[in-house]
Amino acid sequence: MRGAKPASWAGEAVTMPIREPALVLFSGGQDSATCLAWALGAFDRVETIGFDYGQRHRVELACRDRLAERLRREFPGWGPKLGADRIVDLSVLGQISETALTSDAAIAFTESGLPTTFVPGRNLLFFAFAAAIGYRRGLRHLVGGMCETDYAGYPDCRDDALKALQVALTLGMNKRFVIHTPLMWRDKRATWQLAYELGGDALVELIREESHSCYLGERSVLHDWGYGCGTCPACELRRNGWEAFASARS
Ligand code: ZN
Repeated sequence: MRGAKPASWAGEAVTMPIREPALVLFSGGQDSATCLAWALGAFDRVETIGFDYGQRHRVELACRDRLAERLRREFPGWGPKLGADRIVDLSVLGQISETALTSDAAIAFTESGLPTTFVPGRNLLFFAFAAAIGYRRGLRHLVGGMCETDYAGYPDCRDDALKALQVALTLGMNKRFVIHTPLMWRDKRATWQLAYELGGDALVELIREESHSCYLGERSVLHDWGYGCGTCPACELRRNGWEAFASARS
């Protein structure tokens, strides 16, 4: 990686930390790993939550520990802020879904125009569970890596859906929740760029090596853009974003 270092880490995208804690939906993927770094710059203290829903790419859950451990060790300014992690068993979601993310079904587009990787209700459930834990733990800021710019049109990744959910959670629990989606209007190139602005080459390398995107759970070969099969939609997005990011910096 080449290019001049930004003038200050965590100073480009975030000016002043919010003096409150946040709960980050942390799957182990590129997006949520970038969001975790963003939140560590944006908030006083950060907790993480992950979901085991019988996903085909469960290997992403194993990436979480390594990502968190290296964030703690290699980013001393962030490490002390990184608090408790929990994984919630949502295997029931896998049981009631017949999708390409929760079974061996082929990855393709359906008549509805949505890909078979769409797991109906997934992000709605994730935020409902995050809010239930946030309610108990005093964490009203919920952070997720949803993005409507270059994903396959998942309706529960859209800004309007998540703004409506924020209102529903706030009213339904009679407690103010704020859903933060720092990647909402970024494509994958801009997500790599955000990682660079937050933590320089060290963070880009950490996310490249340790995060997982591939829907098929492939982690045998480390490509320029990270591990993955290279051909599933998640790998394609990640690779294309990386190539655009790398070529802009060369
Ligand atoms: Zn793949």
